[in-house]
Amino acid sequence: MAKNTKNTDVDVDVVVIGGGYAGVMAANRLTQRDDVTVTLINPRPNFVHRVRLHQLVGGSDDAVVDYRDVLAEDVRLVVGTVTRIDAAGRRVTLEAGGALDYDYLIYAVGSGSADPRVPGAAEFAHPIATLEEAQRLRPIVDAAPATAAVTVVGAGPTGIETAAELAETGRNVTLVCGEVLGPYLHPRGRRSVAGRLAALGVTVLDGSDAAGAADAKVTAVTRDAVRLGDGRELPSQVTIWTAGFAVPDLAGRSGLSTDALGRLLTDETLTSVDDERIVAAGDSAAPSDLPLRMSCQAAIPLGARAADTVLSRIAGEQPSPLNQVFAGQCISLGRRAGIFQFAHRYDVALWFHIDGRPGAKLKEVVCKGIVKHLAAEARKAGSYSLHRVSGGTKRQQRLLQQAGRDEAPATTPARAA
Ligand SMILES: Cc1cc2nc3c(=O)[nH]c(=O)nc-3n(C[C@H](O)[C@H](O)[C@H](O)COP(=O)(O)OP(=O)(O)OC[C@H]3O[C@@H](n4cnc5c(N)ncnc54)[C@H](O)[C@@H]3O)c2cc1C
Repeated sequence: MAKNTKNTDVDVDVVVIGGGYAGVMAANRLTQRDDVTVTLINPRPNFVHRVRLHQLVGGSDDAVVDYRDVLAEDVRLVVGTVTRIDAAGRRVTLEAGGALDYDYLIYAVGSGSADPRVPGAAEFAHPIATLEEAQRLRPIVDAAPATAAVTVVGAGPTGIETAAELAETGRNVTLVCGEVLGPYLHPRGRRSVAGRLAALGVTVLDGSDAAGAADAKVTAVTRDAVRLGDGRELPSQVTIWTAGFAVPDLAGRSGLSTDALGRLLTDETLTSVDDERIVAAGDSAAPSDLPLRMSCQAAIPLGARAADTVLSRIAGEQPSPLNQVFAGQCISLGRRAGIFQFAHRYDVALWFHIDGRPGAKLKEVVCKGIVKHLAAEARKAGSYSLHRVSGGTKRQQRLLQQAGRDEAPATTPARAA
């Protein structure tokens, strides 16, 4: 493709921190201009397809994709971890030593497991939010006897998917929801998920009513049990913790403004409120202190938007504001069933869903589609356009409401995919 080189005589260095969905989309898109040098820094030499990590634990996928399949040839990959951003000096420091200078920086460090604040959980429960965590868990599950009690704590999509995946392989699984099963789901969608989990033999402890509230909360974890809010102990040889995502503290440690969770605070063009040269995307961005649901669904368009913001600035143009729309939530329920819960564009579930085997097929199309979107942008930078779909009216309303309020500190809770 013919590249755009207008407006600059000197090469522009853009560093992208984090090679997940947002970072890869952003890096690929930036290669539209051949006067831009793009460097992507990521701790691993392979791309992690995080939405398949529960499959890694269940044994049906390794959740890893070769960067050669999703990253544009013109992007330089540096395998390493950034330990500090020096915004004034426009430089990032690497853990292994050395530093990289930049003209623009894209902050796309994603998310990981939230610290479980329940006694014993950090020692005895296994998180699953990163590749390394899922890789550590897999042999533990494999080594447990076939009849071992497996407890999954947390009934957001990650918990539901993990419980179903393991139950389908014959494991004896209890899902402790904390609150309601699948908080995002419409009641009809929730009934469908509950039905499929029951068919797989998963015991669901749901806290949606007064009767279930106590026994659906884990209050302590030991080597071979979980204690519930009503004092009961459930035997649990393998306890898997999926309750919540947290973000790396790199932005805060580097003196940049963040929300309460540590996501980089930006304006609606995803530009840091502190520094025009720093732009954020994905789970680690908090645009206007109204962060989007942490999800791959948001990360890819946010990556595209972040790249467009940088490209606009290089071209001396005004960047466009964010216009994120959601389609819903797509959850696998083992390999043979799934649910696509449709939603309003502003991310609230509708009455309509597709479940059963068609739901599973749709989920697989979505998972493969994610890699295809990244690969297509690698081959033809600038071809992705879903971040331009209109429908951000509700967000505009919330921004106006926010502008009408007194400035309040960031308290938005994390909501994982
Ligand atoms: C089991 C599971 C299932 C999921 N299913 C879905 C789903 O069905 N649909 C959906 O929309 N979402 C789903 N999600 C959520 C989704 O995976 C995340 O929201 C998404 O990965 C966020 O993308 P990202 O690019 O912001 O960050 P990530 O994909 O987390 O990528 C961030 C990258 O930055 C790297 N990084 C971090 N710190 C540094 C540093 N200091 N220096 C350099 N690199 C760094 C990380 O190692 C990582 O490679 C699921 C998550 C899990 C765990």
